[in-house]
Amino acid sequence: MDLEFSDEQRMVRAAARRFVDREITPVIGEYDRTETFPKGVFVRLGHDGLLGGPIPMEYGGGGLDYVGYALLLEEIGRASSSFRSAVSVQISLVALSIFKWGTAEQKERYLPRLCRGEAIGCFGLTESEAGSDAAGVTTRAAQEGERWFLSGSKTFITNGGVADLALVIAQTDPEMGYKGLAAFLVEREESPFTAMPILGKLGLRASDTAEIIFERTDVPEKNLLGKVGEGFEVAMSALDQGRFSVAAGCVGTLEGCLEASVDYVKRRKQFGRAIGSFQLVQDMLARMKVDADAARFLVYRAALLKNKSIKDTVEVSIAKYFASEAALRAASDAVQLFGASGYLDEASVARYYRDAKAATIYEGTSQIQKLIIGHDLTGFRAFA
Ligand SMILES: Cc1cc2nc3c(=O)[nH]c(=O)nc-3n(C[C@H](O)[C@H](O)[C@H](O)COP(=O)(O)OP(=O)(O)OC[C@H]3O[C@@H](n4cnc5c(N)ncnc54)[C@H](O)[C@@H]3O)c2cc1C
Repeated sequence: MDLEFSDEQRMVRAAARRFVDREITPVIGEYDRTETFPKGVFVRLGHDGLLGGPIPMEYGGGGLDYVGYALLLEEIGRASSSFRSAVSVQISLVALSIFKWGTAEQKERYLPRLCRGEAIGCFGLTESEAGSDAAGVTTRAAQEGERWFLSGSKTFITNGGVADLALVIAQTDPEMGYKGLAAFLVEREESPFTAMPILGKLGLRASDTAEIIFERTDVPEKNLLGKVGEGFEVAMSALDQGRFSVAAGCVGTLEGCLEASVDYVKRRKQFGRAIGSFQLVQDMLARMKVDADAARFLVYRAALLKNKSIKDTVEVSIAKYFASEAALRAASDAVQLFGASGYLDEASVARYYRDAKAATIYEGTSQIQKLIIGHDLTGFRAFA
């Protein structure tokens, strides 16, 4: 493994950091407090060429390798997991799925707009009765001639309220189980759907989360992504990408917690000395640092496999499981180190703490990641 970043990777990281320092860090606290998604900032990220990720340049993408993409997500995650979640959905779940499964026409129609931030995407898999058990989707897709009609609802959908394009997994034949699933690209303008905002989240308050509802939503046949029966595979390949992006974002959370904590413990004095001089304080910092480095290397290992198009479901699960749990530990310790001042809404470490929990839940809970790893180790599937 090459531990030196290339010039291109360094440039991406620097460009992302400049954008974050200018456009996200100064305002994210207020968006978080008012539970508002900073849509204008997101669109500007696209204008600045930072929403193209690993999508090839011929489709308007950034042409990044996956280490470069991880660095971008890390920088955004350092500032805000809310914002990083929106980026993960746009690039990893939606654009990369279209790149992998789409027809030439679909790629040309959607990828440039997604990469430039001219269209916002969302990914609709979860339903009220189908969370970890993604094969249990009941949103129905019924074919009538050259058109499909979608009926049902998807819940906890990131970007759902602001999306122009929804990648939706629906059931074409309930008797076929997961083999009846299909993926659809639902353009909101031509195939309108309703979005009901989900407010009052523990964290990720600056991320738009909604229930999206389809009532015989009319979708043309050309908007089928992949074939009928491939919907489950489309969803699982999307999650391989999405989980990678969550893990990379969590490295940013770990770095953010570490930076804020080291700075604070050097300044804060108790018992006549900096609290950073106490051994129990250094214990928390050391664990954070080791966790940050370990999470980073797990992410880069998955990135190197992705660069070579080698299947990396297990390596991604390991990275996502470790990085998300480590980010949660680090955020908890960071609040501890700040004491009461870290317990205030306005403290960056308080936001890290509230936001970190989601990463252990979405895109497959930590339990589901462990079952994927356990299956790889034993050959036994804990779930169907
Ligand atoms: C902020 C946020 C944003 C989200 N964004 C999206 C999005 O954009 N698109 C989308 O489709 N979904 C999204 N989700 C949904 C998310 O992916 C699901 O919440 C997640 O998959 C878990 O499903 P669930 O909440 O129904 O929990 P459940 O599946 O009901 O699980 C509840 C508990 O049971 C455990 N459990 C379940 N099955 C097993 C098992 N076999 N073995 C051991 N333990 C098990 C789980 O680990 C968990 O602890 C989002 C969720 C959140 C919180």
